[in-house]
Amino acid sequence: MKPQADDPHQLLRDIHRRFAGSGAEAYRTTSETLSFDRLYHASLALAETLARVPDPRCSRPVLIWGHKDPRYLVAYWACLLAGRPLVPAEQDTPAERLRQIVQTCDASVVLVADADPNAPTQLHKTLTGSDVPVWSVDLDAAPAQDLPPHDAAPDDVAYIMFSSGTLGQPKGIQVTYANLADFIRWQDQLLAGASFNGVTGNIRHCFDVSLFELWNSWLRLRPITALNHADFANSTGYIRRLAADQVGLWVSTPSITRLMLRNRRFNGTTLPALSTFLFCGEALTKPVVQSLFDRFPGCRVLNTYGPTECTVAVTAVDITADHLAAPEDLPIGYARPGTALVADPGPDQGEIEIRGASVGRGYLKLPDKQGRAFPAPGCYRTGDRGLRRADGLWYFGGRIDREIKVQGMRVDLDDIEAHIRRQPGIEDAVVEPYMLRGEARALNAYIFGDHTADVLKQLAGQMSRELPPYLVPRFWYAGFEASLNRNSKIDRAWLSEAARTADHRHVHSQPDAETLS
Ligand code: AMP
Repeated sequence: MKPQADDPHQLLRDIHRRFAGSGAEAYRTTSETLSFDRLYHASLALAETLARVPDPRCSRPVLIWGHKDPRYLVAYWACLLAGRPLVPAEQDTPAERLRQIVQTCDASVVLVADADPNAPTQLHKTLTGSDVPVWSVDLDAAPAQDLPPHDAAPDDVAYIMFSSGTLGQPKGIQVTYANLADFIRWQDQLLAGASFNGVTGNIRHCFDVSLFELWNSWLRLRPITALNHADFANSTGYIRRLAADQVGLWVSTPSITRLMLRNRRFNGTTLPALSTFLFCGEALTKPVVQSLFDRFPGCRVLNTYGPTECTVAVTAVDITADHLAAPEDLPIGYARPGTALVADPGPDQGEIEIRGASVGRGYLKLPDKQGRAFPAPGCYRTGDRGLRRADGLWYFGGRIDREIKVQGMRVDLDDIEAHIRRQPGIEDAVVEPYMLRGEARALNAYIFGDHTADVLKQLAGQMSRELPPYLVPRFWYAGFEASLNRNSKIDRAWLSEAARTADHRHVHSQPDAETLS
């Protein structure tokens, strides 16, 4: 569908109206399916009920609690149709954090996207001390007659994503209806040439990369084959479902794909329909793309980059064999239409600033953070370094805040990671400081994949021939698999645990290293 309407609310209604009467499936889990027609009627009915909750300015958010359930889609659409800001919350969010989120955003209602009839009562108990109503989402509610009117404007908030950090006050990132409409129009262009029967449901709804899955399903009336993250280890079962559903569009972080590639059945013979791979959220590495090119001959691989603050992603590029063969890391892409990226040029790579229609409203009730990150309306400072080639192609240069001092020397952890990843046979690596008495005293390197202590030793040796000694990690670990956080990115907080359990390790001794004890 060509998203035509200029008004974001009209655009959403136009997309929604096409669901009516379509018996095609919109969502598939291992136990349930939802047709577009049922999604249409159930969301309309719930929107009507929501519209009766007093909130004249459509400003009090609706929290949607669930994980990969068709009811989540119904709740999502009901909020959009009623013009309310929606807040996704995963079921495994700790109770205290959930209470903080409900309080911080002053939620008007909590919608429970779960088939279990007891779930609302249990959640109500979890939210003790809050008088927020908790409602279940009904897939078979009596169809409403028409869309309820609402007063939400294009610049009102469509959704709030709470960042996945575990410490301190939750950070609510607000994105407006105008931002969302701009993203939807971009999706139509980005995948204009692609044809696919189905879309993966890899990403948790609390992570905005899931919007690639949702909107590409909804724009093209294609089903999502949802991956319940409790089944993550059973990749064979998921591959079987993707094959049966002839899924053609894969959306994920590089980390999810790297785990999936461990399964030899993840290939073009088992999954002949799978032809487009879209990445976002983390640095896409050459070994991942090379494996996809080998296993899915002729497939299209798109790399996209962006922060939640700027509506999912702001750049995109088709990765080619030339990119793989080039000496630099893979590019993150060209700026999407209506959005501009700027960074000071130069060898040190300046911070990427984003301006334009993708830049969201910013943080909920956090004026200090807001002032630092959004120096002017419509302008966001990413904290990422970037380099722009003359033709407008961008390269990611790591996070600015990953620059630390180790024994007085300035060290960029992302730089060292990138250097290790460039070594032959290395899929992915993470470098973190080794802390002693609150001070970074050396570096830990975590190497993913099947590697032995000998490989670690060779890597350390190679690095010490190529880099000054203070940039070579002292402690090397391998023989474990990455644990992923809620956004399906490598969970860096978990790595100290990996160090304790790693099967293989190596200590690189530098001739002039200071003693660490
Ligand atoms: P989030 O807001 O959780 O989506 O995280 C956004 C951050 O993830 C960005 O500011 C980057 O640091 C990183 N990121 C996102 N996409 C990419 C990419 N394609 N390559 C490298 N880093 C990325």
